Amino acid sequence: MNINMKYWGDNMKILVQKFGGSSVSTDEQRKIVASKISGAVKEGYKVAVVVSAMGRMGAAYATDTLKGLVTDESIISKRDMDLLMACGEIISSVVMASELKLLGIEATCLTGGQAGIITDDCFNDARILQVNPAEIYKEFERNDVVLVAGFQGMTKDGKITTLGRGGSDTTAAALGVALNAERVDIYTDVDGVKTADPKIVNNAKTLDKITYNEICQLAHEGAKVIHPRAVEIAMQGNIPLRVLSTFGEGEGTIVANGVLKGENVTDIKNDRIITGITQKTNVSQLIIDNSAKDQEISNKIFKALAQAEISVDFISINETEIIFTVKYTDCEKAVAIINNLGLKVKTNPHCAKVAAVGAGMTGVPGVMSKIVEALTEKNIKILQSADSYTSIWCLVPQENMEEAVRTLHEKFNLG
Ligand code: ADP
Ligand code: ASP
Ligand code: MG
Repeated sequence: MNINMKYWGDNMKILVQKFGGSSVSTDEQRKIVASKISGAVKEGYKVAVVVSAMGRMGAAYATDTLKGLVTDESIISKRDMDLLMACGEIISSVVMASELKLLGIEATCLTGGQAGIITDDCFNDARILQVNPAEIYKEFERNDVVLVAGFQGMTKDGKITTLGRGGSDTTAAALGVALNAERVDIYTDVDGVKTADPKIVNNAKTLDKITYNEICQLAHEGAKVIHPRAVEIAMQGNIPLRVLSTFGEGEGTIVANGVLKGENVTDIKNDRIITGITQKTNVSQLIIDNSAKDQEISNKIFKALAQAEISVDFISINETEIIFTVKYTDCEKAVAIINNLGLKVKTNPHCAKVAAVGAGMTGVPGVMSKIVEALTEKNIKILQSADSYTSIWCLVPQENMEEAVRTLHEKFNLG
């Protein structure tokens, strides 16, 4: 990502505040949001506020509702779908501006493109290539608050794109870096980054500090509280992030580098062995027999799936079997492709990927043994497992996913 650094704003104290869909869904909630923005203005900040579409599925202008207006998604181009989805955040920013006006705060609304967010043309999941914050600085000369529609950008030739589901976080992080903000505050419906999804684990603990590395792994493995690209961008720009509740007064979770330089001492904050437990749903496992021990078969399968743009994960090839996972929505298509190659496939269509994530687990013995022990005690089948230097993943039947998350959370004493 290329940031067009400025000469404007050198004396400005800038804060980025991002409010997720669940923070702006009702009139009452938007009043709370307005008071948070007003608080930052009173502290002397120029505030770039990033908003998501209002509410979740079912709410009139939520992203999923807008998508649902198109009866059959496959007959509309991805480019047109982006035009439709981008409306949700634009509506939200204007509604929020009116709420601020009631408090006597003037704010300008900008689309992602107007805010200088330039992306590639990978519609529905575009990457930010460049941020040119000139327009935001210009607006900051007039007003203290600029409202930017999250989750969207624009290609160099002016086509509207969206940044992938949950992408308003990415907008906020990119603006934070481009504006050299003091901090990016991600306001949401939970009080910070927790040791597991609180919708599954009641006693999940809020982490008060976390390194970029730790949160990056959690986000990649499914902790949807923040988008992984947002963390990567903030980390590259070394901009502090904070995840906190819109509806409480808590400090939330601070995400920053592991090294804190004090007056006489330097604290090195090491990554935890296990930071948290995460889950990803709607995964299907495919098992292909290769008792003929023909390596060419793997080659044919993965080429055919790549051509059909089906992404594969959790790949395990041994002499007699080829095993991998695909998204549940791609399962039927993947099976048909493999059958067309004259091969038989066994499937476990309803699976979930549960992970123990900890950037400090490298070289620590006994982590896998604890996982296997915990899941065995609960009779939860491990259909497949794999590990990296920061995570151990287990594929389990979808119906056992929540219990698996709770069991591992308890086994590692994270609550
Ligand atoms: P927003 O609308 O604010 O963007 P999201 O729904 O995208 O909110 O993200 C917040 C949700 O993330 C929470 O409601 C929570 O259920 C879920 N979540 C998943 N894993 C975690 C975790 N480790 N810590 C906190 N929240 C998590
Ligand atoms: N509204 C978008 C979504 O639902 C972006 C976001 O909420 O961050 O994915
Ligand atoms: Mg989100």
